[in-house]
Amino acid sequence: MLDRLGTGLKDAMKKLAGKTVIDKAAVDELVKDLQRVLLQSDVNVKLVMGLSKAIKSRALEEEPPKGMSVREHVLRIVYQELVNLMGKDVTVTLGPQTILMAGLQGSGKTTTTGKLARFFQRKGLRVGVICADVFRPGAYDQLKTLCNKINVPCYGEPGETDAVKIVQNGIPELKNSEVLLIDTQGRHALENELIDEIIALNELTKATHRWLVIDAALGQQAREQAARFHEAINIDGVIITKMDGTAKGGGALSAVAETGSGIVFIGSGETIEDLERFDPDSFISRLLGMGDLHSLIERAEEAIGDQEIDVNAMMKGKFTLRDMYKQLESLKKMGPLKQVMSMLPLGGVEIPQDAYDVTGKKMERYKIIMDSMTSEELDNPSMISGSRVQRISLGAGATPEEVRELLKYYKTMQRTLKGFRGMGGKFNMQRMMKKFGG
Ligand code: GDP
Repeated sequence: MLDRLGTGLKDAMKKLAGKTVIDKAAVDELVKDLQRVLLQSDVNVKLVMGLSKAIKSRALEEEPPKGMSVREHVLRIVYQELVNLMGKDVTVTLGPQTILMAGLQGSGKTTTTGKLARFFQRKGLRVGVICADVFRPGAYDQLKTLCNKINVPCYGEPGETDAVKIVQNGIPELKNSEVLLIDTQGRHALENELIDEIIALNELTKATHRWLVIDAALGQQAREQAARFHEAINIDGVIITKMDGTAKGGGALSAVAETGSGIVFIGSGETIEDLERFDPDSFISRLLGMGDLHSLIERAEEAIGDQEIDVNAMMKGKFTLRDMYKQLESLKKMGPLKQVMSMLPLGGVEIPQDAYDVTGKKMERYKIIMDSMTSEELDNPSMISGSRVQRISLGAGATPEEVRELLKYYKTMQRTLKGFRGMGGKFNMQRMMKKFGG
């Protein structure tokens, strides 16, 4: 996603980092590089100029904070200005709420409604969906199919043309839902009828949120759409879809941010899982290849509590089955491995798909199997031979295949961690934290 923008920004930052002196000429050159990259992503010229001016004046006028080099100071300013360009942070409440989904036809509204159902379901909330898109004939079937896949109830009345009536009937049907998602009609253009209907639905449902779905391919033109919907129905969150399929994503994001509507999620693919929370800070960190260190460390700390595990040590030191046991315990609390990994600054390191394939249930099995191993085996897994596999499987009530699968998983993890270590000095969390912290 946004590969070109990411690579361009990273290259510009790298170039600056490699300069022997950071003077006005170096800052000018950096700003020029940034301009080129941002304009290529369809970021509006005025926004690019504003950002350039802010970086130049801050870089040349602000004193670097104590202990920070000029180079780090400038990089940090660029980082902060890019974050500003992405607008404000929107919080998503994880409690009872009703969300009206708005957007033009083809924006990805129906798909996104399914993705959101999945998102809230994963957070442990009971979700219900109403299809009130009476404009597009296939919308109900499409939404119903998506919802069936994840066992979320979906109410609709195919053939009915009155959206208000559908919602009126749907609400009592779905009264057990904590999160109610309402897919409203999308048209080819924002017309009065569309606005009137959504206002009526808003009043009827006493909606907690009105979220707008916008296609990233619109680039900077997303601004007008966001502004008009906002004016009409007070949009309080925007979801930008199809970020995976366009080089204009940066333009769409900044254009929407400029209207003052915060971006809540971004859609990054066609499956129901391809939805990501949007937070300007993490987004820019990831684009710049810095990883979302703040939130990762925060979450690691939360998850680990006083358990002894140090992410840095884990990646540098020897990785044994015992470490993996601890790691599985903390990962369980930190959330899906894929998400955790995506927050690490791993530019260039390939994570094998197998590394993600361990579900919560399997983790539990693995732990039971490891409980049947001896201390020596946990510290030195290479000694686990055929007869030991037999013994362990008997002790754990598992099959030898399961034990072998665990060992295979361990090897994958070990290889992956070796990849991190291979990055040597480049991966130093403390240093990165210092650079971009505060
Ligand atoms: P609606 O008319 O706004 O309800 O649009 P749909 O939900 O039917 O989406 C239109 C098309 O965009 C469908 O083919 C979707 O699969 C596709 N789509 C939606 N979101 C994304 C996304 O984030 N990435 C990609 N690649 N395709 C998407």
